[in-house]
Amino acid sequence: MSEHMKCIGCGAELQSDDQNKPGYVPASSLNKEDVICKRCFRLKHYNEIQDVNMTSDDFLTMLNALSNKEGIIVNVIDVFDFQGSWINGLKRIVGNKKVIIAANKMDLLPKLINKRRVQLWIEKQAKSLGMKPDDVVLISAQKNHGIDTLLESIESMRNGKDVYIVGTTNVGKSTLINKLIETSVGEKDVITTSHFPGTTLDLIDIPLDDHSFMFDTPGIIQAHQMTHYVTDKELKIIMPKQEIKPRNFQLNEGQTLFLGGLVRVDYVSGGRRSLNCFVSNLLHIHRTKTDNAQELWHRQIGDLLTPPGNGEFDFDNVKKVQLSVKDEKQDIIISGLGFITVDKGAQIVVHAPKQVDVYLRPSIL
Ligand code: GDP
Repeated sequence: MSEHMKCIGCGAELQSDDQNKPGYVPASSLNKEDVICKRCFRLKHYNEIQDVNMTSDDFLTMLNALSNKEGIIVNVIDVFDFQGSWINGLKRIVGNKKVIIAANKMDLLPKLINKRRVQLWIEKQAKSLGMKPDDVVLISAQKNHGIDTLLESIESMRNGKDVYIVGTTNVGKSTLINKLIETSVGEKDVITTSHFPGTTLDLIDIPLDDHSFMFDTPGIIQAHQMTHYVTDKELKIIMPKQEIKPRNFQLNEGQTLFLGGLVRVDYVSGGRRSLNCFVSNLLHIHRTKTDNAQELWHRQIGDLLTPPGNGEFDFDNVKKVQLSVKDEKQDIIISGLGFITVDKGAQIVVHAPKQVDVYLRPSIL
């Protein structure tokens, strides 16, 4: 492929290797004249946003460029994986801009959950990461819940200024932006792109009024999420699609739960107690004795313990995380997979792929 071919829409260098990177076109279109990339094509013809992923260097450049702009920030996070969807360095771009946290995928949490409590919990979590949000709006982009409230919050905060939508990949930023386009600009062909200084990518501008825009910014890949270590088919199993039905296991010391074949949770000590699992309803959970767990894992990987579906699992790449639940009620997070709620006093060891973040947080419930 010629290195000089650029998309006539956004200027990104054309490539046909990776659909998720800027400038993607199917190989068959590469020889044509005046090629536009798939992202610009969808935008032009369907007013539809597709997310592209950036490397961390490009992403940092973009964050720096944003820090000098005026406007407000809407930070989309995934309620199901708050820390996993947090942007490191967000504080830097925020400066004294107002920030609205749009907490997405609320439809996955149990319907009876106390929403005010979730809002306060998110504020507290954000504060512990050094950020004081001006508003927290609970939404489900997919189910169209809370979108009007979010638009009202944006209008009340922006004072005629621009709006920058930021978020890591998979939080549902594209789904949200497509909903916002539908609600605010409808089908009109008014969306354009504009070059963002210092980056390889143009931002998508959605007009808000005669003078100001909403900008979609690219997402950054979070390498510490489980979602990056499974195949597309397995992703369909581990990514929850509907309200999660918590699965509660009464465990004795010396018992183990397997979440598919990807994660092993050993309950070490703390008396008989419950471990309440919030993972995709499609993910099989298997209980066994810890003494048998290692042998069972090797023997049943890909069969009883699945995903991984094909039995390919790198046992050399597994880490052990020791957790001691000291507060009243805590969630054990397995980034990108879900969480397990446990009461005070439990000692637990989690075995998971090395890159995947495993940690405790105060319970969201
Ligand atoms: P992006 O990478 O942040 O642009 O995320 P996408 O919009 O592509 O969404 C990532 C995944 O999350 C997709 O599988 C969506 O279907 C799903 N998703 C997006 N919004 C929601 C939501 O409100 N609820 C649920 N359950 N899933 C969502």
